[in-house]
Amino acid sequence: LTQTAEPVVHSLGEAAQFLRDARRVAVMAHVNPDADAIGSVLGLTRGLQSLGKDAVGALSDRVPEYALFLAGADAIRSTLPPDLEAIVCVDAAGVDRVGALYEENRDLFDRVPVLNVDHHHTNPLFGTVNFVDALASSTAELVFRLLTALEIQIDPPTATVLLFGIVGDTGSFQNGATTAGALETAGKLVGLGADNQGVAYYLFERKSFAAARLWGEIVGSIELDARRKIVFGVMSQRMLQSTGATAEETEGVAEYLRGISEAETVMLLKENPDGSLRLSMRSRPGVDVSRIASAFGGGGHRQAAGATVDGPPRAAKRALVEAYDRLLGA
Ligand code: AMP
Ligand code: MN
Ligand code: MN
Repeated sequence: LTQTAEPVVHSLGEAAQFLRDARRVAVMAHVNPDADAIGSVLGLTRGLQSLGKDAVGALSDRVPEYALFLAGADAIRSTLPPDLEAIVCVDAAGVDRVGALYEENRDLFDRVPVLNVDHHHTNPLFGTVNFVDALASSTAELVFRLLTALEIQIDPPTATVLLFGIVGDTGSFQNGATTAGALETAGKLVGLGADNQGVAYYLFERKSFAAARLWGEIVGSIELDARRKIVFGVMSQRMLQSTGATAEETEGVAEYLRGISEAETVMLLKENPDGSLRLSMRSRPGVDVSRIASAFGGGGHRQAAGATVDGPPRAAKRALVEAYDRLLGA
């Protein structure tokens, strides 16, 4: 990666100039893309295309069902086109979070300039240009700032994809990421014709019958560490098989568990086919779970962070409690 010796945060103007200079560009986000990752990829790709640029969106994992209604979702690629001249990473807390698209194109990442647009405070500023604002609600909010700086006319479908990102990362304006900027930007996007009813339905309401049963299984698995105020949940491969649901349909379970009044921290362990566990943490204000995530090689935000940890769940819980006591214990 072409990096300056001292990683620095660049201004909106510098990031906008990077995009003005870019002609053949791919916009990518993190593995297991969430609403903010997808909305940011689509919003920036559509904006750059409206400037006549040869811009494509690409993700290492496929677009989840709940995002397929978004304009351009069907055009998101899983491989990169040839002859790229620039790369934009959005909502990626580190370049390795881009996944296979990074692993399989490391030479390209070394050769072309990389713009890093993100809001994770753990971001190591891996880009040639880093437009990183840890106080932003979402990367989609940063993409809105970029499109505005580039004087791009935001059409209703583009407004919808950006609203999708903001609503996703703020948990529908309920969690700690719900800043004035989130509300102001969402207001502008609704004014530009964003389909806020559609966003709310696809993000929070719509679910398959199988998913509702999987949620039941996960909620049935929870354990409370009353002293530490931690709720543990497990999603096993067996639960996926017995319900017929997919792992991506667990999106939202951790937030649901965070509402448990006896708890301040949620640790949800989702079993991968190889037995490793995807840890999803959520916390009440005052508990910084990103510190635990970092200790396990992951990252994220204070109130929402994750990592991949070794199984089985019993051993993972012990290791997590140990890390909690060491890092956050009184
Ligand atoms: P999740 O629980 O998967 O929704 O992730 C919560 C937050 O933590 C998101 O902002 C992710 O970007 C971040 N995150 C999750 N897993 C990782 C990881 N392995 N490394 C860095 N950040 C992560
Ligand atoms: Mn994300
Ligand atoms: Mn985000």
